[in-house]
Amino acid sequence: MICAHARFKSIAPRWPEKIAVTPTEQRINLLDLDRRDLEAFFVGLGEKPFRVTQLMKWIYHERVSDFAAMTNLSKTLRERLAECAEIRLPQVALDQPSRDGSHKWLLRLDRGNGIEMVFIPEPDRGTLCISSQIGCPLDCSFCATAQQGFNRNLTVAEIIGQVWQASRLLGDQRNGQRIITNIVLMGMGEPLLNFANVVKATDLMQDDLGFGVSKRRVTLSTAGVVPALYRLREASEVSLAVSLHAPTDELRNELVPLNRKYPIAELLTACKHYIADKPHRRITWEYVLLDGVNDSEQHARALAALIRDIPSKVNLIPFNPFLGARYRCSAPVAIARFQAVLMAHGLTTVIRKTRGDDIAAACGQLAGQVQARGRRLERVARLATG
Ligand code: SAH
Repeated sequence: MICAHARFKSIAPRWPEKIAVTPTEQRINLLDLDRRDLEAFFVGLGEKPFRVTQLMKWIYHERVSDFAAMTNLSKTLRERLAECAEIRLPQVALDQPSRDGSHKWLLRLDRGNGIEMVFIPEPDRGTLCISSQIGCPLDCSFCATAQQGFNRNLTVAEIIGQVWQASRLLGDQRNGQRIITNIVLMGMGEPLLNFANVVKATDLMQDDLGFGVSKRRVTLSTAGVVPALYRLREASEVSLAVSLHAPTDELRNELVPLNRKYPIAELLTACKHYIADKPHRRITWEYVLLDGVNDSEQHARALAALIRDIPSKVNLIPFNPFLGARYRCSAPVAIARFQAVLMAHGLTTVIRKTRGDDIAAACGQLAGQVQARGRRLERVARLATG
């Protein structure tokens, strides 16, 4: 049979016109397609767009990855899908529950590449932290991911596949409440450097036929890729967290080298534009506290002055040390003082709790260990996935 996805030009422009049997590597992974893409794909198959509703419910609500089990699709359609498409997920290589209820997983992708994912339950919410790239090119001086360099962008399927796996492992609901209520792109990578894939994946997270997470509860964290911030406002409805970490260009250049390209003033203008005319939007500023580097009262006052006229919330993040790090975490008294200054300026300020310490549930940390332990972890991963 001629596989109809060859006609789906926008997704597979370079595929041959006629394929008798589609080899695995040429099958289209349906997790790479958002709702609009899927509709175009189904039209290409000669199917009615409403079939997409059925298919998406199977994939995202029922978490079924085998076409044969999608019993309300006709047998012919199921067979055609099995011929030219697939639902291929990242595999769970390592599952580490923490004593405090948080969870960390290592997911295996191609060629031994791994990404990490963390779930943090709190009384009023459950937050899933996912990755957008393998490694990261930004080279922030306090970040463990930076040490492993940049490998590649994640595909849409690899980004949404993290949420798929987490909701399969955790379940949908407990006592009538959703388990995953919030999703944050704060794992490995800079999401705005993987713009198109991240936007599609976040659309799928928010889509009612996808994971149906409330729009405001999907948060993208960026080090400040200014031009992409302007595009994001047009393309997406995500909440924005910005990794500021310093109130002056001089200091921020050192901590977040991207600042040399997009200095603080430009970043703040882009942030104001992102929330302009959107009454419910505010910026969450992330500020990692590094002992003796950026944690003085003067730094706090300068930060407050900087963001004074922007609807804001500040997340103070105690630095999570890792092997080879050149910083130490600020003393609790310094953190409390920093918070007090910001609060005195009327800023909502929370100190992010350190969770999952026993499983290194901080950004970039598991990835660092993967590198360091190299083959040993690969063996564990192989065992874990059979
Ligand atoms: N590239 C994006 C998202 C990934 S990092 C960004 O920069 O926002 C997610 C958050 O974790 C960022 O605020 C980052 O600065 C912070 N982070 C990275 N390494 C950390 C560490 N060792 N301790 C505490 N926070 C860290």
